[in-house]
Amino acid sequence: VATLGVMGGGQLGRMFVQAAQSLGYTCLVLDPDAASPAGAVAHEHLRADYLDPAALRELARRCDAITTEFENVPAQALQQLAQSRVVAPGASAVAVCQDRAREKAHFDASGVACAPYAVLRSPADLATVPDSLLPGILKTARLGYDGKGQRRVTDRLQLAEAFSELGEVDCVLEQMLPLALELSVLVVRGADGQVVTYPVQQNLHRDGILAVTEVPAPQVDAALQSQARESAAAIASGLGYVGVLCVEFFVLKDGRLVVNEMAPRPHNSGHYTMNACDLSQFEMQVRAMTGLPLREPRLHSPVVMLNLLGDLWFDAQGVERTPDWAGVLALPGASLHLYGKAQARPGRKMGHLNLIGATAEAARASARQACALLGLPSEW
Ligand code: ATP
Ligand code: MG
Ligand code: MG
Repeated sequence: VATLGVMGGGQLGRMFVQAAQSLGYTCLVLDPDAASPAGAVAHEHLRADYLDPAALRELARRCDAITTEFENVPAQALQQLAQSRVVAPGASAVAVCQDRAREKAHFDASGVACAPYAVLRSPADLATVPDSLLPGILKTARLGYDGKGQRRVTDRLQLAEAFSELGEVDCVLEQMLPLALELSVLVVRGADGQVVTYPVQQNLHRDGILAVTEVPAPQVDAALQSQARESAAAIASGLGYVGVLCVEFFVLKDGRLVVNEMAPRPHNSGHYTMNACDLSQFEMQVRAMTGLPLREPRLHSPVVMLNLLGDLWFDAQGVERTPDWAGVLALPGASLHLYGKAQARPGRKMGHLNLIGATAEAARASARQACALLGLPSEW
């Protein structure tokens, strides 16, 4: 039996491990946190820092291939592992995804339009920003997620304040675009260069966090869907990427498609694949890193995915409660996925709920009932 390693022990690592185990693999998880969701289901949990030399040696000694489940794993650690083992995705591709300035340069090089932007590295750069980028969004180049590390600014004074608030670290200022809706595309690339893509996902965010994903994307025509899938494939190929990559897009009010950012791993907006496709994004990651066949995945059912954030574990008075799982599980097409996190906190990703149906209307009807039972907004 071959052994696979995972850098990171969050829910994405957990679902990867579960997919790998059903294909017969043994899994090792490296994560410093004793209570990691992936560590709890893996064959073994190495509790150490991602740059710990002994832990990295151990992973390289015991694993045939190693992957990562979170964006900010040090590229240096991946590089070191790659000296003796298959590492997918590779350090250089991950490094591009970890830095918005490099990421945008790669979008430009791939011929895929992104928001007009400028890179700010020091206060002196503020004066070089063209007026056309305001109003805009200032984003730290590294380490941002769920809308953290971002400031919306309308004029130069606010821009200077925001840059200083963000610590004068490297940032990207993007023009604020008029969004009609948000999409994402999962693309999978094998070491031999074969590329497959999943159907386009339509995403709704609340407070900067993904709330709802719907597939097929109800408001996106076939031409735009093809454009999004082809753009994602070009971006992955240009990186020499191996594994599952998620590319986020905006559709603007004038109908244009613009790429936003990418994540070098399976993605929250791809969790619907676990129940609505004949091949999940996690199994794809296993296949890509082990050189098993990739094939076009098939969406067999329309689906709505609802993210389950920690807020659902508290009533209006802030008293902890258990959501009505029995009610939810009685709904047609409902599949519940909980990540085994002991402590709920507002905004914390605790699980997700997939609702599939014979038709998009049926999936949506189940999802609306689930929202009513859970106390989630039923408009999306
Ligand atoms: P994630 O959790 O997806 O990694 P993130 O913190 O990296 O999020 P972004 O995806 O860059 O952040 O932005 C968060 C949200 O802010 C987007 O989903 C979109 O709703 C909005 N947004 C970002 N950039 C722009 C823009 N240039 N114009 C308009 N809205 C934007
Ligand atoms: Mg991001
Ligand atoms: Mg994003």
